[in-house]
Amino acid sequence: MLTDNNLNHEVIIVGAGIAGIAASKILTKRDIPHIILEASNRMGGRARKAPDHFGSWFDLGCSYLHQGEINPFVEISQSLNTSVKRDMGDLFTLENTKLLINGICFSNKARKSIIEEDQIFKDKLSKAKYSPRDKALSYYLDMDSPYFPIFSNLLIGLNGVEPNLVSLKDFVSVKEGQDFIIESGLANLIEKWGSNLAVKFGSAVKEVSWTGNRVHVKTTNGEFNSKKLLITVSNGILSSNQIKFLPELPKYKAAAIRNLPMATLNKVCLCFRDRTFQKNQEGWYVVCGGDSETLISSVLSFEIRRSPKNHMIIFLGGKEANELELSPKKVLRRIRLMLSNTFGNDVLESITKLITSTWSLDEYSLGSYSYALPGKNKDRDLLKKNIKDTLFFAGEATEKNHYGTCHGAYFSGVSAANEIISKLKP
Ligand SMILES: Cc1cc2nc3c(=O)[nH]c(=O)nc-3n(C[C@H](O)[C@H](O)[C@H](O)COP(=O)(O)OP(=O)(O)OC[C@H]3O[C@@H](n4cnc5c(N)ncnc54)[C@H](O)[C@@H]3O)c2cc1C
Repeated sequence: MLTDNNLNHEVIIVGAGIAGIAASKILTKRDIPHIILEASNRMGGRARKAPDHFGSWFDLGCSYLHQGEINPFVEISQSLNTSVKRDMGDLFTLENTKLLINGICFSNKARKSIIEEDQIFKDKLSKAKYSPRDKALSYYLDMDSPYFPIFSNLLIGLNGVEPNLVSLKDFVSVKEGQDFIIESGLANLIEKWGSNLAVKFGSAVKEVSWTGNRVHVKTTNGEFNSKKLLITVSNGILSSNQIKFLPELPKYKAAAIRNLPMATLNKVCLCFRDRTFQKNQEGWYVVCGGDSETLISSVLSFEIRRSPKNHMIIFLGGKEANELELSPKKVLRRIRLMLSNTFGNDVLESITKLITSTWSLDEYSLGSYSYALPGKNKDRDLLKKNIKDTLFFAGEATEKNHYGTCHGAYFSGVSAANEIISKLKP
């Protein structure tokens, strides 16, 4: 069905990440000749695993199936005989979080205050979403609260950027839900799911010339023609101008790319000797250091898993994620200090492996996922809008209510493919 013949493509898809794979699946079902051009030598894009296996595969990029209730990868994993762990509920709510200061649980009183403050913040956001003005998320935080460092850390971990840069309206458009896990690795699942598609790897698109109903694409691995082009690369790639468009993209599109920049979320995976952690130590943590419950000076958030092997996944966002890339020793020293403060020195002796991600340096995405600047959440629709029924756009950044996620990327690929089909003349 899929052909390498440069002349026969109805559609070219740029990028073999989740959006590109989802689009290709739809076109394949409808027998529409197409090809995926992928710059790297692998499927999956930001669904990517660390090269070394430590008894577990570690997902450097996406790993949770958020909003499990509506997440298409639950059904996809079942169809591929991959099991999904579903017993954790909404993993990231404060009610489900182990909150510690200097290795000791916060007092009931402090815990209650933190949960109440979280509710006040959420109530403010629910009201503000109907306001005509869109402000930065930080506007709704109580910066004088002793627990501000906790809220700030959690928001930076979610958005991959400091809350003063994030549009409130964009943030609240994403719904909460249950978080599921693919213990055998989400990147492995995506690779399996996309395995029977014809992809031209090592083909970085460099130039796209388009007129009327014709597109000519120059890559590092040959030139291709088609009637329609679907672009699924990240906004990091689009804003770096690595792909030259002739004629140039319209001004509104260039502005949308600028207004939806890439955040940085990085992960540090620490592997431990077997039985380092007990069953009741599994789960999501926010650990603090400081003089007292009300004088918090540092915060670290992470998940502990024991299955298949004992490991810890630490999330660093924004400036700290960038610092991990530039001065890893400094950041890792702080992590070690926080961990010995929380679990005692022995835990450091049990570390067997360290894996870190560097998403803002990743040449194929230049960041982890998009965020909207305050007042710019509607730019997601502009980013998605096709140009003259010839250039189409998909990818997480185009998906208003599900941006920054795998299911968002999936929905965007499916909807772009259906739109393309509706525009192809019989
Ligand atoms: C650290 C991290 C943690 C995350 N955690 C989660 C999570 O737990 N749950 C969740 O749902 N989501 C998570 N995400 C987000 C999720 O990974 C992304 O939203 C999703 O994978 C994006 O898919 P995509 O198809 O839009 O883009 P991509 O995966 O970026 O696909 C685009 C493809 O285009 C290719 N490409 C780039 N330039 C060119 C070019 N010039 N020519 C041809 N090809 C090119 C790239 O190599 C890539 O394969 C996380 C992301 C990161 C980085």
